[in-house]
Amino acid sequence: MKKVLVFGSTGSIGVNAIEVIKNLDGYRVAGLATFSNYRLLIQQAKLLKTRNVAIVDKKYYKPVKENLVNVKVFCGEDGLLEMIEKGEADILLAAFSSAIGIYAILAAIKKGMRLCLATKEVLVSFGEIVMKEVKKYNAQLIPIDSEHSAIYQCLEGRKISDVEKIILTASGGPFLNRSIKNVSRADVLKHPVWNMGKKITVDSATMMNKALEIIEAHHLFQIPVDKIAVVIHPEAICHSLVQFVDGSILGQFSYPDMKLPIQYALTTPARQRSLVKHIKLDKIRQLTFLTPDYNKFPSIRFAYQALKIGKSMPAVLNGANESAVQEFLSDNLRFEDIPVVIKKTMDVHKPVAGDIEDYRRAEMWARQFVRVEAKLKKRR
Ligand code: MG
Repeated sequence: MKKVLVFGSTGSIGVNAIEVIKNLDGYRVAGLATFSNYRLLIQQAKLLKTRNVAIVDKKYYKPVKENLVNVKVFCGEDGLLEMIEKGEADILLAAFSSAIGIYAILAAIKKGMRLCLATKEVLVSFGEIVMKEVKKYNAQLIPIDSEHSAIYQCLEGRKISDVEKIILTASGGPFLNRSIKNVSRADVLKHPVWNMGKKITVDSATMMNKALEIIEAHHLFQIPVDKIAVVIHPEAICHSLVQFVDGSILGQFSYPDMKLPIQYALTTPARQRSLVKHIKLDKIRQLTFLTPDYNKFPSIRFAYQALKIGKSMPAVLNGANESAVQEFLSDNLRFEDIPVVIKKTMDVHKPVAGDIEDYRRAEMWARQFVRVEAKLKKRR
């Protein structure tokens, strides 16, 4: 029986992951962690009879502890680390919506646990450091992001030197065929294909999600950034493709449902029956592939710039974006100004090479810079 820790268990990926694990043979949930949604955490722990839970926001420790008897309750970011170090789980499924728990993730790698990673921000900000550890400990890092799961499946057993291009597909978000001027929060939060958390839904609308995924792919597959391309594919049936040097293209196709990449990350290289509806190709009839509009969605280009500069710049891109999304969701920043403030933050930043703490400081600086910029813009 493989024991799985689910970080971010109350979020969209976490809830799906629990469904997947319940349906799989040979897997069980060994621990749950959430940032602040303690009510759902308590409910999940009771239903699954989990003996280990972690709550990151310390103000909710008390209600969790009081409601779960005979359960070990960890607390704070240190608690996540402790949960890894003291536990005996085989797999860490990391699905927080930010790089919180980075030290716990590194500890899991060191311990030889399989890391099923949904949080792309971890690789965006700390990609080089994380990949160095993965190599050092010969750890298994399996992506859950649907595009990267697709690429992972296409690359299985193949040499990266035979790859000409990785092609990330993007649905194009809600503004593919609409202007991005004066759009409301509700317009942005209505994604045409995927039903996801708020942060990633805004990222899809700006296409910053694809920028983060370019950086994620660069680290995961150790492939130069100029070999990563983006294509718009509104049907979201093909989840990404790999083109090889001989001209052959392999792609992975399924209805858009995160349960599939979650399950594959857990079971690979094996496959099991899933809860996912199977495709009938003749019902789909048509698949479209289009060039992205880089003027309307300048965010995609930020990824190439940030990777070219390297050092703390990808962390700054990530921090600036997280903060811009937050300001937009709090009605402090217009949608079309999100890429504007991110670009300004990157222009002002002086990149430094460093460790996790240095990059976290750079992220924090970027968040603060964006908050001030949003205030200035609002006053104007
Ligand atoms: Mg994705």
